[in-house]
Amino acid sequence: SKLVNILGINFLSITNKQFVDQLKTDSNLHLNRFVVTANPEIVLAARKDKEYASIINSADYVVADGIGIIKGAKILKKPLPERVTGYDTMLSLLSWANQEHMKIYFLGAKPEVAQTLSSKIKETYPGIHIAGINDGYFKDDSYIVETIKNSNPDIIFVALGFPKQEFFINKYRHISDSIWMGVGGSFDVLAG
Ligand code: UDP
Repeated sequence: SKLVNILGINFLSITNKQFVDQLKTDSNLHLNRFVVTANPEIVLAARKDKEYASIINSADYVVADGIGIIKGAKILKKPLPERVTGYDTMLSLLSWANQEHMKIYFLGAKPEVAQTLSSKIKETYPGIHIAGINDGYFKDDSYIVETIKNSNPDIIFVALGFPKQEFFINKYRHISDSIWMGVGGSFDVLAG
């Protein structure tokens, strides 16, 4: 797919369906992938922080998570087909992972949210193999890192909010050939 530069970020011009299909293909090949679903807040933060901008642009895929970005792209005469949100992409991948019995690691959100998320996943997606669920308020990364290394999950959802989740993925993506995806506040929504 083609890339469209908006305010310094290289967005992938892709539909939801095409994007989910791409991630499934990559996952089946055990490719190491860093996915950013960038909303306008992320784009603005990247404009103020060069290191953050370079981390975002080092991701394999950056998609437009926000109607503001779609509108901006249109005004710049570099249209993007549609909004691709982290939450919707996560839901599509969870359904697929449920059917295919994929292994998933969940990192982030408050301890009570992570707890609720755990039961919700077991109930709604019984086919998913949970590699681990850890809340996002840890002091030491080592337990998380060891669990990911030892379990080698197919997909790792990181819900630490921005820019924390992108810094975390950038630091650790080499430990496991997985789809690493920052999903912001999605665990809170999924846990209800
Ligand atoms: N969070 C976390 N650890 C932190 C800070 C935040 O796990 O140190 C979680 C927080 O509980 C929430 C998510 O990250 O579930 C951030 O959600 P928010 O909607 O604020 O972020 P955004 O979607 O804008 O990135």
